[in-house]
Formats: sequence, structure tokens, C-alpha cells
Amino acid sequence: MKKPKKNVIIIGGGVAGLSAGIYARLNGFESTIFESNPTAGGVCSSWDKEGFYVNGSIHWVVGSEPGIDFYDMWSDLGVIPDNKFHNHNCFLECKNIEGVDVHFYLDSVKLKRHLTEISPLDSGLISEFIDGIRIMANANLPMERAFELLHAWDWSKTFIGHFPEVQVLGKFNQLSIRDFAKKFKSKILQKAFESFWSPEMSMGFFLIHMGYAHSGVTGYPLGGSGKFIESMVRRYTDLGGKFKFNQKASEILINKNRAVGIQTIDNTQHFSDYVISACDGHNVIFKMLKGEYVDEITKNSYRCLKTYPSLVYFSAGINRRFDNLNSSIIGINIPLIKPLKVGSFIHERVSFQIYNFDPSLSPKGKTLITAMLDTNYDFWKNLLSEGKEKYNHEKDRINHELLQSLEQEFQGISDQVEFLDSSTPLTYERWTGNHKGSYEGWLPTPKAAKSKISTHFKDLENFFMSGHWVIPGGGLPSAAYSGKEAIQLICKKEGIDFKP
Ligand SMILES: Cc1cc2nc3c(=O)[nH]c(=O)nc-3n(C[C@H](O)[C@H](O)[C@H](O)COP(=O)(O)OP(=O)(O)OC[C@H]3O[C@@H](n4cnc5c(N)ncnc54)[C@H](O)[C@@H]3O)c2cc1C
Repeated sequence: MKKPKKNVIIIGGGVAGLSAGIYARLNGFESTIFESNPTAGGVCSSWDKEGFYVNGSIHWVVGSEPGIDFYDMWSDLGVIPDNKFHNHNCFLECKNIEGVDVHFYLDSVKLKRHLTEISPLDSGLISEFIDGIRIMANANLPMERAFELLHAWDWSKTFIGHFPEVQVLGKFNQLSIRDFAKKFKSKILQKAFESFWSPEMSMGFFLIHMGYAHSGVTGYPLGGSGKFIESMVRRYTDLGGKFKFNQKASEILINKNRAVGIQTIDNTQHFSDYVISACDGHNVIFKMLKGEYVDEITKNSYRCLKTYPSLVYFSAGINRRFDNLNSSIIGINIPLIKPLKVGSFIHERVSFQIYNFDPSLSPKGKTLITAMLDTNYDFWKNLLSEGKEKYNHEKDRINHELLQSLEQEFQGISDQVEFLDSSTPLTYERWTGNHKGSYEGWLPTPKAAKSKISTHFKDLENFFMSGHWVIPGGGLPSAAYSGKEAIQLICKKEGIDFKP
């Protein structure tokens, strides 16, 4: 008699949960995703607003073109060839830093020339930076197999095959972007580097991503996050995967040190052979598992590491086209007319993404604009406790101050506004359940680069964690990879060969 198929319950239908579900189906497991929302996507979502389709996440997808392992993963997951990608030629455009525009071109030759023209005195440091990018651009870090399934021989092969990259990471991983920026003699380059991402991030992480971008594998999927997720959902359901929407998990059911299912908040119990969490790691470790089973090193990482700052996500629908504007991965970074306070964070410059390269996000002749502003969760939590009116008033103030700065750059824009909106960390928390509304898990600081975060625990069988909380730096590729890794480990346990 044929053995019944083993079944897997996955908590969370974001990118990680969908990836786990797709690979589970590809390997012959029954799969049910329990998702607390009425739709899949989690952080990677889009929403309708006044005829516009607001892209709530993706600026770029590492692995959009062949040449790295992530491309094969996105192909398995139905993202490729379903999505068409737009390739930018710049990472970030910093306008008017002390009167100078700094372009982070993807082409390293152009970038080197441009940065050196701005500051010939920094040519040595610029060369170091560019050499790092070029070396990392050649790296196809092996992501096809779960790290713990690699043997000693695989590790030595990887180490030898990637020796130059290992050296670059050894040199830069423990240096923050801020500390690197301080080495420039030019104040303009200092500011440009600090405006790029969070200056607390490790330079190693920065160079890995500049390397990917330089090698042209980091496109933007036209249609944005919503369309991207639709293709994963289609792939999952075509393979026979099941969803249970509006079902929030509250507990992992455990019998004799083995996960046997989950309980949802309506107190219903659902049983399975394996459980994979693909949602907020804090919730899983400290609530669903009540802090038990998890090793102290991992718990400490959860207590001590820095998360990506919570976010105010600004969006605007504008009745105007921006035909001659160069597109870039992060967008155009401009000085604000006056410093903008968002919680306890003071912003002097902001990067706006102007979606002139994706007309599908707006009605004809109009354009969507978005911006990400770091903030602190507690500020918004306290403000809301003082009443909805105060909370909304603060959002309006931020929207209008941002509009004034946009007006300085694009005269007449104030009269072309169709809507202005902001989501706060409380929106992210409510929609995705992520700790303090963090949108990408752990900030890839030098400390995070050395930390250990386990995805499964020796005293708890048949349970695996996935999602952007299990790999510092987070993001779509890591989330999807972690879902794949969970299924690889389950396949190993079942003694079956993993099939992509
Ligand atoms: C503005 C913005 C821009 C970004 N840009 C990029 C980018 O350009 N490139 C990139 O790679 N990444 C980007 N990211 C990050 C990326 O979107 C996320 O890291 C990734 O989508 C996380 O996926 P996940 O599945 O790990 O987690 P999540 O998306 O958080 O998914 C978790 C899911 O679990 C559900 N859930 C939570 N708790 C429960 C529960 N108890 N029971 C049932 N379901 C539950 C949630 O509703 C959610 O659907 C961006 C994010 C934002 C916000």
C-alpha cells in the first residue's frame, strides 16, 4: 500500500511561507499555509489607492537575471518568467550635496570615474571600494543547498573557489558604512555614503549588494510587490498547495519534544507531521514556543541585535509624468527644505522612488511616488494611545512637509497631488505581525554578521523557522531561501532527495 503523504503546516503566507509551500509541494508533501490576513504577501504587498496601485515593498530583486543561484530559485517559485524586470542604471541618485549631485552608477567604471572627479584626494579609498564591488560581482555565493547540508569538502571548495570574496568580506564585514564614510576626505562623499542605507550596516553587506547590482542581476519587477506575490501564489495553488486565510496561529503544539501542529486563536487545533514558522521570529520564540526549546545563543541574538528601524512609508499619487528623470534602484535622494522629525529621528535628506518606469502603478499620465523614513515604534504607539486625531494629525504633518520639499525639486507638484498617505510602524505591525513593525528583520550590522540564529532546535523535532528573521539583512531572497532550506532539511529527515 502507498504510504500517505506527510503534511506540513506553514505559519505565514509571506514570501518565506510561499517558498516553503512551493518547495513542499515540489517534494511531495501536503502543504497548508495558515495566514492571519485575508490575502498572502505579508510585507511584500501592494494596495489600491485612488486609482493608483501602491507598491509596498520591492525596489529590487536579487536574482532577476541568470548567473546566480537566486535566479534558479525564483524560477522554481514561479516568479520567473511570470514577471518582466526593469533594469536601472543607477543605485541611488543623491541630489545637491553641497551643490553636487552624486550618482551611484551600477557600472563600476563609470562610478569610479564619477566619484574620483568629485574627490581626487580620495582616489585610494574609492579604488578600494570599487575593487570590493568588482570582486563581489564575481561571487555566486552557493545558495542551492542548505548550509548545514554542506560537507567539509563543500565548505573547502567554496572557500577556495571564493577566496577573493572571502578576503573582501573578512576586511569589510566588521566595518560599518558610517565608519567607512568617515574615511573620505570629501564631506560630499561622506554624506553620500551615509545617505545610502542605514549607516550602521556593515560594509560587507553593502559591497555584496553593490556587487549584485554591478553584475546586472537586480531588476525591479514591473507591477511591483502585488504582481510578484500573485505569481508565487499561482505557482503554489497550481501545485495543489492549500491556504487557510484569516487564521492566526497562537501556539505550536508539541508532544514529547516533537511539533505536531498548531493552535489558532479560535482555540482550534490543527495537526501535521511538520511545522514551519514563516512569520515574526519574536512571536514564535517567546510566545508560540513560550521561550522553551530555543538555545540561549539564539534567544540572546533576539534580545540584543538591532532590527531594521521601524518605518513610515510615504506614498503620493501625482497627476504628472516625470519623463526625463533617470530611474534608480532606491530613487532620488534630495535635501529637505527643513529637517523633518519623524518620531525621534531627524531627516535632513530623503530618498523618493518616482515610478516613472512602471506606468502599471498609476492611471495614464500620472505617477506614483513613495519614500521610506526611519522612525521609532514607541513614538507611534504612544501617540495613538493619546487618540486617533493626534496620530492622524502627525501623519498629515509629515506628508505635507515632504510635499513642500518635493515642490522645491519639482515645481508645481503641490497642485498635482491626487493623494498623500503614510503607513506607520503600527500599520506594519497590524498587517504583518512583525516585531515593532520592522520591515526586514535584523539590520545587517557588523555585530549581526557574527551572530548565530538557529532555525531549529535539538530538543524540538519536526519544527523549522524561516522568514526574514532567520538571516540578518532579510529581504526577499533570504526569506525565500529560508523557506527552501526548511524543506531541504525536512527532505533529509525523511531520507528523500530534495527536488527543486
Ligand atoms: C518598503 C519596503 C521596501 C522593501 N524593499 C525590498 C527590496 O527592494 N528588496 C528586498 O529583497 N526586500 C525588500 N523589502 C523586504 C521584504 O519585503 C521582506 O523582507 C520580505 O517580504 C519578508 O518576507 P517574510 O515572508 O519573511 O515575512 P513577512 O512578509 O512578514 O510574512 C509573514 C506573514 O506571516 C503572517 N503572520 C504573522 N503572524 C502570523 C500568525 N500568528 N499566524 C498566521 N500568520 C501570521 C503575516 O500576515 C505575513 O503574511 C522591503 C520591505 C519594505 C517594507
